[in-house]
Amino acid sequence: MNYGSGAARVQTLGPSGYDWILTRSIDNIMQEQAGIPVPLGAFKVPVQRILGRNPGPMTGPGTNSYLVGDKELSLIDPGPISLEQLESFLAALGGRQLQYIFCTHTHGDHSPAAMPLAEKTGATLVGLKAPDAMGQDHSFEPSRQWHHGDVVELDGYSLQCIHTPGHVSNHFCYLLREEGLLFTGDHVLQGTTPVILPPDGNMADYLSSLRLVQSLGVKFLAPGHGGLMENPHQEIEQLLQHRLQREAKVIAGLRQLQESGLDDLVVVVYDDVPQHLIPWAKKTLLAHLLKLEKEGRAQQSAERWRAQP
Ligand SMILES: [Zn+2]
Repeated sequence: MNYGSGAARVQTLGPSGYDWILTRSIDNIMQEQAGIPVPLGAFKVPVQRILGRNPGPMTGPGTNSYLVGDKELSLIDPGPISLEQLESFLAALGGRQLQYIFCTHTHGDHSPAAMPLAEKTGATLVGLKAPDAMGQDHSFEPSRQWHHGDVVELDGYSLQCIHTPGHVSNHFCYLLREEGLLFTGDHVLQGTTPVILPPDGNMADYLSSLRLVQSLGVKFLAPGHGGLMENPHQEIEQLLQHRLQREAKVIAGLRQLQESGLDDLVVVVYDDVPQHLIPWAKKTLLAHLLKLEKEGRAQQSAERWRAQP
């Protein structure tokens, strides 16, 4: 999982298993106190990060919620349901109106608090409904069908929906257009690479969505986990290279083994990953193989895989 220089720090994954594998150290927010708003950068549009109360192997320091605006406020990714965190959000609002709640996707560490918070505040919900897949929050009911390119205009700022399928099919990033700041959910993470879980997770879509974000020319990435990233082009290039290097290892592994099941192949392709991460690596391996199969570069028969000559 190492795609930077030096030793990768790989942590274990939690039971819910849907988010990511930590591959580099997460900086600057490990010390942040959950529930306490912290200003994010020196933006004209006020943005505050509120760290979730859900630190763990799957979530790093916790899920980042972002409070945007001054008079008309928006909250991005309220996270899992927590009475304490709900109180923290209300305290951060300080009596001001929460107009919108944006959810990047419906994994359990991003969206479940949206419905109770909307009930308390009357906020409008933006995002896409949960797909029929494992680990999804089906309670999330967006106010309407939202589409790629939709813009929500608020007092002093606007947020645009950018559809970024891959990690999951219903993933949106949200662009704060006035600042060139993209809220990336689990599409681009700081210090990590998200797990792609087929069939809803799709490697080809993931790579296309990375290129889409790269083409936006944004200035900052505010991830769902980890700190603010100030070199979007470089960060995304690293992610792309990491995936393509892994793909090359998949092809090499298939050639070496000639024909193999996932259990044998994963050991060869993820020879840099500790044993306890292998079950998760296997899922992302399948995502790579399905992409290669679609491209006519690998084929399967009775769950045995081989390279296409
Ligand atoms: Zn996720």
